[in-house]
Amino acid sequence: CGVFGVIGVADAANFVALGLHALQHRGQEAGGIVSHHPDAGFQSARRFGYVRDNFTSQDVMETLPGPLAIGHVRYSTSGNKGPTAIRDVQPFFGEFAMGGAAIAHNGNITNAEALRRELIERGSIFQSSSDSECIIHLMARSLQRNIPERMEDALRRVEGAFSVVAMTRTKLIGVRDPLGVRPLVLGKVGDGWALSSETCALDIIGAEFVREIEPGEMVVITSKGLESHFPFRRQASRFCIFEHVYFSRPDSILGGRSVYETRENIGRELAKESPVEADLVCPVPDSGTPAAIGFSLESGIPYAMGIIRNQYMGRTFIEPTEQIRNMGVRLKLNVNRALIEGKRVILVDDSVVRGTTSRKIKEMILDAGAKEVHFRIASPPTAWPCFYGVDTPQREKLLAATMSEDEMREHLAVDSLKFISLDGLYRAVGETKGRDKSCPQYCDACFSGEYPVTPADQISHGFEM
Ligand code: 5GP
Ligand code: SF4
Ligand code: MG
Repeated sequence: CGVFGVIGVADAANFVALGLHALQHRGQEAGGIVSHHPDAGFQSARRFGYVRDNFTSQDVMETLPGPLAIGHVRYSTSGNKGPTAIRDVQPFFGEFAMGGAAIAHNGNITNAEALRRELIERGSIFQSSSDSECIIHLMARSLQRNIPERMEDALRRVEGAFSVVAMTRTKLIGVRDPLGVRPLVLGKVGDGWALSSETCALDIIGAEFVREIEPGEMVVITSKGLESHFPFRRQASRFCIFEHVYFSRPDSILGGRSVYETRENIGRELAKESPVEADLVCPVPDSGTPAAIGFSLESGIPYAMGIIRNQYMGRTFIEPTEQIRNMGVRLKLNVNRALIEGKRVILVDDSVVRGTTSRKIKEMILDAGAKEVHFRIASPPTAWPCFYGVDTPQREKLLAATMSEDEMREHLAVDSLKFISLDGLYRAVGETKGRDKSCPQYCDACFSGEYPVTPADQISHGFEM
């Protein structure tokens, strides 16, 4: 998901709509905005579909007045899968004795089921099936006298990944979980402030990037300025390494690194680790593009757009049902036949998850007359599900959970298949895996199976780490 918030500008909701539009790659199922105006109070709009189709018309934006607003773009990783119910669309809102608060959450709460059960037993009335709603109910049960402190109380009970943007009548609040699994950045826009999942959304509103919200940090911003606290026990951070590989936009800066440059580095590492003779390097667009450029630069094999993407289709994996995902490949990608015919082609993609996309693409490339097909993958084999906010399927459906690299090559029926090593991936982000404790470590659980937060709900359903 993507979260965005602005305080201290006229018509903040317009800024939020623009920010969410720039974060659309993080969630395409639905979006919502809550605003506050001293006269109109809290207002909200929550819709299915793209930001550009819902939050551009005057009719809608006029209903969201005021100098303070937050928003969310949703892609479901918990709660109801398939067609999202409108009740699952964020931001969520709660009325407390001291006033209202709205929250937007990116990440996934790993003890949400246990919390929900406990809260329902004690009388909470849940409105949605989303894990994020727990935060509101935990806040309602807190005895603290102001909303930021109630949020601290609530979030201390929550396990897993959370980057939260919240608002009261007068405050914009941003929090990251102690491991900082999901990104959250701070920007300055005119006399006001912005919070965003990624820096690319600051650019769109002309905000200046100030800094990242730190893992475990809570910032509370009012018209008087910004206060920062660290309400959780301090831990070494574990940022999601897959944000660098796939999830974030290439024009964003994460941890001081250009996502684009990291992806190009990954391609260079891949070319060093797994060279192969061929005529062309082609990306599987768009997610494989920077790595393919890196592979081509390092190997000297010409880069070419052997697969053309229909720009009017979204990210396939974000469509939550398998059936749509299967169709999605042909709706989205087509082979550039004139270029491919008679060639030995290296295809570079970001990941192999179920293998369905990769198989279809290989068939399309062979149908177009390619002589050889070599897959190079910009992440290690995805052998474990993510429980921290990326929608990977159950372990059994992950190709790499049941097959060796050789078996996967056979299954995909390609001439060669190589994944970047985990060490190579760490090199590409400028760090070293494991051995050196002074080096920042990432979450890499979907590749290594080392889960930095015990996925309690999953374990209660029989998941074995
Ligand atoms: P596959 O070949 O595993 O079906 O799909 C891999 C391709 O789809 C990659 O290009 C990747 O961008 C995208 N993809 C498909 N499903 C998922 C998923 O569940 N999670 C992620 N992270 N990417 C996926
Ligand atoms: Fe990111 Fe993978 Fe960790 Fe999920 S399991 S947070 S996708 S690195
Ligand atoms: Mg892709």
